[in-house]
Amino acid sequence: MSCSPINPDLLSKVSFPDPDLLKVADLLSLEEKAHLEKVRTFLQTEVRPNVGGYWDREEFPFDLLPKLAEYGLGEIELSGFSNLLKGLLYAEVTRADVSLSALVGIHNELIIGAIDQLGSQEHKDTWLDDLRTFKKVGCFALTEPDHGSDIAGGLATTAEKTADGWVINGEKRWIGGGTFANFAVVFARDVADKEVKGFIVEMDREGVSASKIEHKMGLRIMQNADITFDNVVVPESALMPGATTFAGTNVMLRNSRAWVGWQGAGVQLAIMDRARQYVLEREQFGKKLAKFQLVQEQIARIQSNACASLAMMAQVAWLQENGAFDMPHAAMAKSTATRYARESAALARSLGGGNGIVTEHELSKLFNDVEILYTYEGTYEINALIVGRAILGTGAFV
Ligand SMILES: Cc1cc2nc3c(=O)[nH]c(=O)nc-3n(C[C@H](O)[C@H](O)[C@H](O)COP(=O)(O)OP(=O)(O)OC[C@H]3O[C@@H](n4cnc5c(N)ncnc54)[C@H](O)[C@@H]3O)c2cc1C
Repeated sequence: MSCSPINPDLLSKVSFPDPDLLKVADLLSLEEKAHLEKVRTFLQTEVRPNVGGYWDREEFPFDLLPKLAEYGLGEIELSGFSNLLKGLLYAEVTRADVSLSALVGIHNELIIGAIDQLGSQEHKDTWLDDLRTFKKVGCFALTEPDHGSDIAGGLATTAEKTADGWVINGEKRWIGGGTFANFAVVFARDVADKEVKGFIVEMDREGVSASKIEHKMGLRIMQNADITFDNVVVPESALMPGATTFAGTNVMLRNSRAWVGWQGAGVQLAIMDRARQYVLEREQFGKKLAKFQLVQEQIARIQSNACASLAMMAQVAWLQENGAFDMPHAAMAKSTATRYARESAALARSLGGGNGIVTEHELSKLFNDVEILYTYEGTYEINALIVGRAILGTGAFV
C-alpha cells in the first residue's frame, strides 16, 4: 500500500499559535506549565510529523513507546499531577495523534487505573513498574460483539468458579491494543451470583486468541481486536478485589470518560492548527481563503468550539480535584466535547476542499478519528441520556 505521511514541508510552515485563547493552561502552576510545554514540543516535533504513514498503513509505531515513556506518558495516572495537568497532557497527545492518545489514555485511565484502584497488592507488584515505562501494556476488554451500549446489563462473557480459580468463556470486540497487549482486564459475569467481575488475564494463556479488526475508517494506528476466551483457566488471584460488581468498575469509568472529554478538546487543537494554516496559505479568486467572510466565520466557530471545550474540561478537572465529580459531569463533558469536535472536524475538512480528503493535509485523518471519539467510551447518545436522566430524574434508556 502506498504511504502518504503528512507532508513535512507543510508541517514545518505551521507556527502553531496557541489556540488556548481563554488561557486554561494558565491555571497550572509555572512548574506544571513548563512540563506541559516540554511534552508539547516533543509531541509536535517528533510524533505529529511522523505518524501519517502509520495511519495509512494501519500500523502501530512501536518504536515510539520508549520515547513516550521518557516524557512520562506511561505513568500519568501515578504522577500525582493535578487533574488539570493530566487532562492537558491527554489533550496534547491527542493534538499529535488521536490513536496514540487512545493508547496513552487507556493505558493510564483504564489499565493502570484498574490495577491501582481495583487490583490486589499482587497485581500492583506484578504489573505497575513495567506499565510505567510501557515495557508491558494491557488492554481493556469490556465490549462484546452483541453488547455495546447495553454492556452493563447485557454482558454475556461468563466466569465460573472452580476449586482453585475461575474458567472464563466469551467474546470481546473492539479491544484497543488487543493484538499486542501482555494481559487483558476482562469483565465477565459470575455464573453463580450474576455480578460482573474484573479479572487480569495474560494474553498467552491457553484458550485466549486475538485477531486484528482491519479497515477501520478512523483510529487506524490503534490496533483493535476481536478476542475469544475459550475455557480459559485463571487462578483465584486473577480476580480484582475492587471489581466484584459493576458498581466498583463504574467509578473508574467515570474518570476515563472525562479523559475522552479531554481527547475531544485536544483533537480540536489539532483541527484549529491545521484549518488556520490552510486558509492562510490557500488562494482562490486571487485572495487567501482567510480573506473571505464565510471562511472567517467557520474559523471563528472552530476556535470557539475548542475554547468552550477546554474551559468545560478545566471545570471538570476542578470538580475532580474537589471531590464533587460525578457520572453526569463526565457524560456531559464527553458528549459535548466530542460533539463540538465533530462539527469542527467537518468544517475544517470542508475548508480543505479536495485537499481535505487526503492524509497528507491531516484534515481527513482528524475528521475520521473524531468519529471514533464520538462513538467509544459510551456513544454520544448514551452519554446524552445519562445527562438527561440526571436533569429530569427519569431514565430513558434502561
Ligand atoms: C475504534 C474503537 C475502539 C474501541 N475500544 C474499546 C476498548 O478498548 N475496549 C472496550 O471494551 N470497548 C471498546 N470500544 C467499544 C465502544 O465502547 C463501543 O463501540 C460503544 O460503547 C458502542 O457500542 P456498539 O458499537 O456496540 O454500538 P451500539 O450499542 O450497537 O449502538 C449503535 C447505535 O445505537 C444507539 N443506541 C443504542 N442504544 C440506544 C438507546 N437506548 N437510545 C438511543 N440510542 C441508542 C447508539 O448511540 C449508536 O448510535 C471501541 C470502539 C471503537 C469503535
